[in-house]
Formats: sequence, structure tokens, C-alpha cells
Amino acid sequence: MDLSLTADPPSPPTAAREGVWLTCIECGAAFPPFDDVRYTCDDCGGLLEVGYANPPSLADAAGTGVWRYAGALPLDGGVTIQEGGTPLYRVPDLAEDVGVETLRIKHEGMNPTGSFKDRGMTVGVAVARELGVERLACASTGNTSAALAAYGSRAGMETLVLLPAGKVAAGKVAQASLHGARILEVDGNFDACLDLVQALADRGEAYLLNSLNPFRLEGQKTIGLEIVERFRADHGTVPDRIVLPVGNAGNTAALYKAVRELVWAGDLAVDDVPKLTGVQAEGAAPMVEAIEAGADAVRRWDEVETRATAIRIGNPVNAPKALPGIRETGGTAVAVSDTEITDAQRDLAESGIGVEPASAASLAGLRKLRADGVVGSDEEVVCLTTGHLLKDPDAAAAAGTDPEPVPVDLDGVLDHLLT
Ligand SMILES: *Cc1c(COP(=O)(O)O)cnc(C)c1O
Ligand SMILES: [Zn+2]
Repeated sequence: MDLSLTADPPSPPTAAREGVWLTCIECGAAFPPFDDVRYTCDDCGGLLEVGYANPPSLADAAGTGVWRYAGALPLDGGVTIQEGGTPLYRVPDLAEDVGVETLRIKHEGMNPTGSFKDRGMTVGVAVARELGVERLACASTGNTSAALAAYGSRAGMETLVLLPAGKVAAGKVAQASLHGARILEVDGNFDACLDLVQALADRGEAYLLNSLNPFRLEGQKTIGLEIVERFRADHGTVPDRIVLPVGNAGNTAALYKAVRELVWAGDLAVDDVPKLTGVQAEGAAPMVEAIEAGADAVRRWDEVETRATAIRIGNPVNAPKALPGIRETGGTAVAVSDTEITDAQRDLAESGIGVEPASAASLAGLRKLRADGVVGSDEEVVCLTTGHLLKDPDAAAAAGTDPEPVPVDLDGVLDHLLT
């Protein structure tokens, strides 16, 4: 299939049901959306994406949150906890400091469970219900498990999450636990957890809700739709660039699909499409390596390390969708150090925006690209912050100021404050 930005919208194959189908991005094979459980192409194993007979248009948007864009989603409604509709904060001081014309922060930490994963789950869990499956599962660096646990529980379904032992931030494990997921701690990294859960799903033991699942990415498209609508209303244009942290590259793939469909619908000119710009941590940067090398595929990194645990991923499964997205929009990818990530986390906090480390990678990457002259001073930029500060309290406390012990009397406190 042609993943270029200028390609024509696909016409409905015979596999379409009520104008919706699944297509393989590698060989173009088409499948009915809900007849069977399927994550990848039956014929070649390629990634699948959802097709629509009517290219989704912003003109059909009505209501609030993710389901405001039901016309761009495979079902009319989902298992909802009022996800989406997140703020697009103005940060004039930060814009000046970084040296760009406009900077807005799309804070996905303001979703119900504190990350953008909720947007994918409201759709994905509804599809699971449509398919009639009983048990849901995912591998996770934390936030996917928190979202799956909450949405699965709300849908009354059993949830199973596989986490890399000792590498998941405290807030996320607490969420998965309280929402009632069965938590399997794996003595390996995220990529090993994903291999395992895929094997379980292939054996029919559970329905897989990682971002390999094409329906989840449909929900995550709404980040892009919200940015375009809000930015246009406020500035009369769309942003020149959207900068986002990259782990499995699901969000990068989803944002690209959002803008491709807006181009098909006539809602966005090809020349106006924001440059998708991915940021990874230096210790886990296979996408950056592939973009810099001009490679068609990523090389799996077996050893990955970063404080930004949500993007501690060495084998980004959505690379075949995300690499064309970055290239076709004229974007790029950049790696940042853990120190740069923590500095950006402090910068955002100074503007009142509390994010977990992985989220701050977007701002850190923008700073770096601006300093290198890749991003111009005239650019209007949106940085995506993917998860809330409270997800990783240890990282926040380590980056913040230390408490000061004082005695329990006024004179003692005054003495402490004034000397
Ligand atoms: C999942 C996640 C990411 C990575 O997103 P991908 O779609 O896998 O690239 C980044 N930041 C946070 C906070 C996340 O939870
Ligand atoms: Zn195929």
C-alpha cells in the first residue's frame, strides 16, 4: 500500500462492512473489520490499518472528547471514561526561551488515567467487546497497563498485563493493581514482554491491546484532530510542527494517519501538514538511527536504558507506519540525554505543567533541534506531553526541590525562613 501523503484515498474493498475495513500496509490485502480476531495480515504478517469509505472530516465533529470524532472511528461509541479533550496550553515564556514564534503544549497527562493511552483504549476495548473476546492483555512500560486495567474493568472484562520487572514507575503499577488487572512481572525488558504477550494472543489466550492493534491507533488519531481544530480556532493556521516522544511509534503512526485522512477529506492542504518530529532517549533510539541512516526499517536494540521508562523500547513495532509519517511530512527524529529530559521536565513544571520524564522528551528535543538550526525561529510548534507527573513520583521528587525539616514552633519556622 502507498503510505505517501499525496496518495489517493483507497476505495472500499469487498471486505468492507458498513464502510469500514482493515488493510495490510505491506501487500494491500483487505479484511472485514470485526469478523475475526486479527492483529496483522493473514497473507504477509504486515501491519494493518483501518480504512473508511468516507474519509473522516472535521466537518462531522460533534460533542466532546474522543467520541467527538466518531466519524473518524470504526464504531459509533465506546467504553468511555471521558477521555480526550485535553488542554493545549499556551506557554509564551517557554516559547521565547526556546526561540520559536509560538509554542503550545498538548498535555495528554490530563486524560482519565493520566496518559494518551486512554484514547486508544476507549476504542480498542469497545472493539474487543464487539469481537466477543473474554480476556484482554498487553505488554507495557506502564501507561498502557494502567489504561487497559481501567477500561477493561469498566467493560467488565478480565485484564492481564505483562510488565518488565523493576522498570515501571510506581504510579502506573498502582493503577493497574487497583483497577484489578492480573499483573505478570517479567524478568526482561518491554520488548521481551511484547514478544510473550503476542505469543499468548496468537494462541487465543487473550485479545492483544498493544499499539500493534490497529483499532487503538484510531482512538489516538484524535490527538491530531484536536490539535488541528484548536490551533486553527486560536491562530487561524495549523502548527508547522508537532513534536512528540517516541516509544513504539504508535502515536507517530496515529498522528500521520490523522493528517493523511484530513488531506483526503479536503480539510488540510498537503503543504500545510505539520512536520511530525519524533524524540527518543539516547539510550533507546532505534527510530532516530533509522531516520538518520535513511533506512527502510529499524534495527532492534537489545539493550535499552533511560530514566524515561515509558519510552524505554528497543523494537518500535509501528516503525513501518511511523517512518513514512516522519519522512512524508518533512519531519525528523532526534535523541536527547536523560539530563536534557529532566531539565525539560523542570521547565514545563515552571509553567505549571506537570509531566513524567518521557513526556518532557518532546520539549527537550525541540530545544535541541532549535539550537541545531533544524527548527526555525519563525516556527509555530506543538509539543505533545504524553503522561502526568504523578505517574512517576520518584522521578518528580528527584528532579524537584528537597523538603526542609523545621521545628514545630513559629519562632523556629521564622528563624528557618529568614536566615
Ligand atoms: C506509551 C507512551 C509513550 C510512547 O508512545 P508510542 O506511541 O509507543 O511511541 C510516550 N510517553 C508516554 C508517557 C507513554 O505512556
Ligand atoms: Zn499483507
